[in-house]
This record gives sequence, structure tokens and C-alpha cells, in this order.
Amino acid sequence: MSDLLIQRTQSAYSYPLLIKNLFMAPVVQNPDQEIVYRDIMRFTYRDFYSRVHRLANALTSLGVKAGDTVAVMDWDSHRYLECFYAVPMLGAVLHTVNIRLSPEQIIFTIDHAEDDYILINSEFFPIVEQIKGRINTVKKFVLLSDEPQTPQTTLPLTGEYEQLLAAASDTFNFQDFDENTRATTFYTTGTTGLPKGVYFSHRQLVLHTLGTLASLSTSHEQGRFHQKDVYMPITPMFHVHAWGFPYIATAVGVKQVYPGKYIPAMLLKLIKEEQVTFSHCVPTILHMLMASPEFDKLDLSGWKVVIGGAALPRQMCRKAREHGIDIFSGYGMSETCPVLTISHVGNDELNPDEEIDIRCKTGRPLPLVQLRVVDEAMNDVPRDGASVGEIVARAPWLTQGYWKDSRNSENLWKDGYLHTGDVANINSRNYVAITDRIKDVIKIGGEWLSSLELEDIINLHPAVSEVAIIGIGDAKWGERPLALIVLKGGSEPPEAREIGAHVKAFIDKGMMSKLALLLDVTFVDQIDKTSVGKINKKALRERFSAQAR
Ligand code: AMP
Repeated sequence: MSDLLIQRTQSAYSYPLLIKNLFMAPVVQNPDQEIVYRDIMRFTYRDFYSRVHRLANALTSLGVKAGDTVAVMDWDSHRYLECFYAVPMLGAVLHTVNIRLSPEQIIFTIDHAEDDYILINSEFFPIVEQIKGRINTVKKFVLLSDEPQTPQTTLPLTGEYEQLLAAASDTFNFQDFDENTRATTFYTTGTTGLPKGVYFSHRQLVLHTLGTLASLSTSHEQGRFHQKDVYMPITPMFHVHAWGFPYIATAVGVKQVYPGKYIPAMLLKLIKEEQVTFSHCVPTILHMLMASPEFDKLDLSGWKVVIGGAALPRQMCRKAREHGIDIFSGYGMSETCPVLTISHVGNDELNPDEEIDIRCKTGRPLPLVQLRVVDEAMNDVPRDGASVGEIVARAPWLTQGYWKDSRNSENLWKDGYLHTGDVANINSRNYVAITDRIKDVIKIGGEWLSSLELEDIINLHPAVSEVAIIGIGDAKWGERPLALIVLKGGSEPPEAREIGAHVKAFIDKGMMSKLALLLDVTFVDQIDKTSVGKINKKALRERFSAQAR
């Protein structure tokens, strides 16, 4: 067997999968293509190439070296994109700080990741000023700002980003190193306990880029990503590298638009003026855009949107389709880099309803992803589109553990598969459909009721703007479902029993489990969200625990 192993001629080049290799082709093929930052700045890939080299020189003169950790605290910007490249290309680790965590959690992550340098937008000064005297690792701070004046701060700033770049040489000789070197790190959103650190190597990020791109580009027509696209993220760059899309967009050499802080009017203006054709976001952000008065005035046909982070509700999918949006699901988690599945419609002749079914499914595994739906003994559940189990996965881009946390790492990788904690079914054509988080499923007298399916049905009621279903304590059944509903403005508010009757109609048609007859309804003004805009069911369970009986 050993003589089958490749023997390398001494002078042959053993090509490492390094992030630096992702941006060679587009710089040569599309040097004049643009990178845009809000309505503030635009430059070409040719400039981008030289700015990444300048940044590497600037960071090196500050003292950054291989093995250091460089944190970034910024909204989505061209600066962030440059750091996605320059920092790992130096052999340093990029910590994308989740700026939507609580100040104490942010400080925890900076301390836990042992950040050496922090590149910080002035908006976050008040948070980081509090770490004075508490964290010893941070050596220098660099200002990121859109304003000409340096804002007041007690932080010892070493310089301003643009000035440092302007003063640096645009030539840097990036060295090769082991492709398994850590490139990025960030922290899970921490709805349970302290945030946990995940980490990804150059090799993992390169393979994730190619795997996701292969899936998006091989689709027949729908949901394709190609050189004529204009890309704008609406999932923050601090959260799982904006789902890896800035790496994908750069590798393809498309026009990229970075919107800064997410403000609906600015997002819609950029979509219109820059003619954005490809984005991704969680359902709550699209919900926010759809609620904006500008939304209905825009022609959004040709805009492709991957929805992930939570299930795509049917009602939202239908409304988006009416606006001409090519909306479809993608699935993954912080631990998985993130993309595991994408739900393309495929080549079948489908009626609009069947098409919506597929777009709202969780999707089919990407090339190289081994995905199984298993019971507690790790047996595969039948591929009948109904039996449920936990999604477990193997792929060449999954975090190999949690940073400095061996107990949780072992649980994550029990039996050699990454355990997602997501409950799903899978059908004979390999389409996965998530029905819940293990922690959110409602356990009624030993049976499981899917909170997501019930949410989808309640969302169909014309007076409902938003709904979250949680399980609350019930002396007889163990748990029963509680619907927390935000109503649309303007219409006559329905009574709780009307919602019950709406759900019963689906139960009578056999489209919903009878367990849903136990439903309670509470109307609320708003629904708690996590730091990345997802419904925070843990917070809701705590808030409404008094309704247990
Ligand atoms: P995070 O690590 O914060 O990105 O959250 C990952 C979790 O979001 C997953 O484990 C799923 O529970 C959920 N999620 C992501 N994408 C989808 C999807 N397409 N449908 C349903 N749930 C999703």
C-alpha cells in the first residue's frame, strides 16, 4: 500500500490550500471590477490587491506576526474584507468580534481569544474602554472610521486605518505555510451559557469556498452565482465570515457592495443603485426590509437571496416570489463554517406551490458533505420525509472543537460526527427539512411537536406579522405550545380563539398534528431576538415561564 503513496520529486511544488490563493484569478481576470462601501467609497480589484498588500505591511510594522490574533470590530465594510485576507495571509488569526453580544460577553471573547491587536470602529469605543486594566494581551488599537476627525477616547490608539495604509508599501511577499494553520476564530451567539469559540484553518476556508461555489454554480438556472452577479451581504461579517460569501465573491471576481450597519433605507438604496443581484440573510432581516415602505416600490426581480440561520417561512417565500425575488434556503451553523446544504429547485416541472415547498426545505448536502439524520443510537432514520432524528455531519470544513473547551468539544464530536442539535427529516431525494432545534421541540406527553411547522401555519393567518412558538410547562402533558404573536398594524385584531380555529382547520385536513389543539395564544408587541437577529426562544421561555400551569 505504501508504494501507492505519491512520491514527490524534490523540486515539485506541494500546493498548500491557503487563503492568499483565492484572490489571484479575479485580480488577473477582472482587475477593473468594483468593490463598493456604502455611498462613501469605491475602488477596483486592482486597488484591492494593493490595499491588502499595504495592510499586511502596515500590520507588520505595528508588530503583527504569524501566530498573533488580530481582532476586528466593525460593521460590514471594505476594511473588513481586506482583513479577511491580509490577517490570515500573514499567518495570524483573524478574530471577527460579535459586536452584538452584551458588553460583558464581548470582553469575555476578547480575553478568551487572547487578542493581541484590535482594529476598532469608533462606535465600539465605549465597550472596549471598559476592558482597561482587565485584559493584558491587547498590545495595540487601530481606529476604523468613516469620519475625518478622530473621536474622543481613552483607548491608546496607534493610528487610523486609511492613514496606515497610505503610508505603507503596496508590495508584500506573502510566505507559504501549512494549510492547516488557524486562519479565523469567532464565538457562537451564546443563547446558552458563555459564548464558545470556533476556529477554521486556511484549508477549511478554501474548501468551503469551493464546495459552496460548486453547489451554487452547478444549479441549472435557479439560485446560480456567476461572474455577472453583484454581491451584498446582509448577514454580518462577524458571524461565520458572512456565511463565507465574501471569500466566494472574491474568488469569482464579482462586484461587491458592503453596506456598513444594516439600515433598511441604506440597504434598499444600495440594492437599487448598485443593482445588487445576490444576498443572504436571516428571515427576520428580510421581514424588516419587507416592512419598509420603500420595499414595495422597488423592482426586485433578479435579486437572489439565500435565507439561512432559521427556516424560511412559507408566507415570506410566497411574498418574495410575488416580488420576483429568487429566494431559497441554505443551512449551517457557526460550527460548520457554515454551509452544509442549499435548497435548489432542480430541474423538475413544478407548480408554484411545489416550488415553494422546495425553496423552504433546508436543502440538499453540498459536495463533500456527509450528512445523516440519526436516532439516539446513531441509526439512520428512514428516508421517508417524515421520520425525524438529529442531523449529524462530516465535511472538510467543520470546526475541530471549541477553543480551550475540551468537554463541549467531545460532545460536539460524539461518535466521530459533528452533532448539530437540529431535528429534521430527510426524503428519498436527499432533501433535508429541519423541524426544530432539539432544545426547542415541544415535548407533549412523550411525543414531539415541531414548533417550526406550527409557526408556518400561524404565519398564514392574515392578521399575523410575526410568530414564535415555545413549549411551556403543563402539569398534565409535560409541555404545551404557546404562540407569541405580533399582529400587523391597521387590521382589526383577532381574538386568540380565532387563531386556534385557524390552526384547527389544518389539523382537520391532516396537515398538522392533533397535539397542536393544546395551543395557547398570547399577543405581544415584539419578539426577543438573539445578537444575530434570530428568534431567541430561550429568552422567551424564561419571559413567559409564569404561564406554565
Ligand atoms: P448559528 O450557529 O447561530 O448560525 O445558528 C445555527 C442554527 O441555526 C442551526 O443549528 C439551525 O438550528 C439554525 N438554522 C440555520 N439555517 C437554518 C435553516 N435553513 N432552517 C432552519 N434552521 C436553520
